Amino acid sequence: MNYFSELGLSQTICEVLEQLGFEKPTPIQEQAIPLLLQHHTTDFIGLAQTGTGKTAAFGLPLIELMNEDQKTTQAIIMSPTRELGQQTAKQIDEFVVRHKKLNVEVVYGGVDITRQIKALKKPTQIVVATPGRLIDLMKRKAISLSDVKYVVLDEADEMLNMGFKEDIDEIISHTQEDRAIWLFSATMPREIRGIIDKYMSNPHEVSVDAGQKSNKDISHEYVVTKSANKLAAVRRFLDIQPDMRGIMFCRTKRETQEIADQFSTWGYGVEALHGDLSQNQRDAVMKRFKSRSMQLLIATDVAARGIDVNDLTHVFHHTLPDQLDSYTHRSGRTGRAGKKGISLAFINPREGRKIKDLERKIKVNFELVEVPNKKQMKYSRLNHWSKLILQTKVAQDVEEIIANLDQDLVNLSQKELLERLITLQLDHLSTDGAGGEPNDLNEETGQAQRNEERNKPSDPNADQRFFINVGEIDGVTKADLIHFVTDVANIDSKKINQVDVKKNCSFFYVDKAEKKGFAEKFDGIMVNERAIRVNEDHDGPPQRRPRKEFNHGGGGASNFGRKRRNDRPKSRSRRR
Ligand code: AMP
Repeated sequence: MNYFSELGLSQTICEVLEQLGFEKPTPIQEQAIPLLLQHHTTDFIGLAQTGTGKTAAFGLPLIELMNEDQKTTQAIIMSPTRELGQQTAKQIDEFVVRHKKLNVEVVYGGVDITRQIKALKKPTQIVVATPGRLIDLMKRKAISLSDVKYVVLDEADEMLNMGFKEDIDEIISHTQEDRAIWLFSATMPREIRGIIDKYMSNPHEVSVDAGQKSNKDISHEYVVTKSANKLAAVRRFLDIQPDMRGIMFCRTKRETQEIADQFSTWGYGVEALHGDLSQNQRDAVMKRFKSRSMQLLIATDVAARGIDVNDLTHVFHHTLPDQLDSYTHRSGRTGRAGKKGISLAFINPREGRKIKDLERKIKVNFELVEVPNKKQMKYSRLNHWSKLILQTKVAQDVEEIIANLDQDLVNLSQKELLERLITLQLDHLSTDGAGGEPNDLNEETGQAQRNEERNKPSDPNADQRFFINVGEIDGVTKADLIHFVTDVANIDSKKINQVDVKKNCSFFYVDKAEKKGFAEKFDGIMVNERAIRVNEDHDGPPQRRPRKEFNHGGGGASNFGRKRRNDRPKSRSRRR
């Protein structure tokens, strides 16, 4: 008896699973397989995302329930994307190697339909299909659903997101009244409940808790950095973990391509995956990604749907998705098949709310982590360099080379030699990004605190510091600024003090007698077609969450030069 036979699976299937290296059922398999085998005529809902082993959870019972001697299609598995469909069919194909009379075929849009029509002419008991192509094939009478007993809706939430609701309705309407529907979904939006109410009667429901349990192998982390510094921050994370391999999600096709281009220019192994690429190009990108010839795949949500690549250590969110549900799909690309993974979101200081919303909605805790500063980067790189030295196999003729070296070098002590080597290596290790980026890229999420700050009555007996959105790059000098401000606010120049013109903004103090209503005087003021913005400037509040400190991986104390919260320059409230 092995674990799988205890679930009621046949010996043939158990042996195949053993050969495939499936030792123990995953939680969704443990719960779903016995249920689907025993109550196969009943409808079923499985709340599970990719990576939890859901394909085997429905695929194995389906195989057991097929009548091999019947040549017609008995099960259809609907899949939102070609990629997921292909992976599902591939997995089921592996399971049926010992079932010589069982055939599995996958059909999807975007490719020549005639080859699929031809393939379906042979007995095909299980068909994996994207909805649109299945309807095309039905219209062309290449497939009949009249003998279909099982309809699997895989990643049902994604199918609805992609607008397949009507296609699903049409497909189901062509199946027998007594067919069973097995619905798998990572999330349970209202529309899914609609499908359940319409088509299912007393379904069995199994959940591996898309929010928590299935994700226990994923650490959810975030960093707070200015939007303008995001790529620099991502770059530092790539640098400190050269062994990482992951996907970075962006919101638009254009952004995806631009970011991939930027990283390529910097010399990183990255590629873009988005809907503007042809299917052939996308296939080629995926092939390279799977063959590990790139570190980071930069993708849109749509393009990345259904990607099944194991061993991804990280998922990066360059921008958080608008739909919180998409976060679950994104992060589920890592932490698969029992391996640990990190889902790291790069948010700007105004997006703290989104993290709280996610924590509440998908019931996970996010940890605030620190973007490594330049010194930490340097140590991390030196550490990798020292590991490389330790792993280096010594060349055979090294003795002879040493004998011919300058004796001054040979006579250096170990300490002197090490000091010089490190100094030389430091010269190679540029920790500066393109354009001399700041040392510390960390910011604070400030909206809530700033609101508090804003609501707090300011000290009426103190002058008030103000922010204005013009600076050096606008060609503004201190004198210009005082002139402009006093002119618009109609106050004496003596009431403006400590003017500080920065690169793209400026700060100044306004006398306590004039500060009330001062900012409002600039409402609607335009200069060179640009709206002028003036608001009170409150120093940044103390951080509320502890930040996970960066560890450069040296194994020893790693507290060098780390900036603590209180050391950090204070952030500014710039928005009204
Ligand atoms: P899925 O969630 O179905 O996409 O499965 C994710 C990955 O886990 C696939 O590569 C499966 O082959 C693998 N897998 C599923 N179940 C098991 C299991 N019980 N033991 C080992 N690997 C599994």
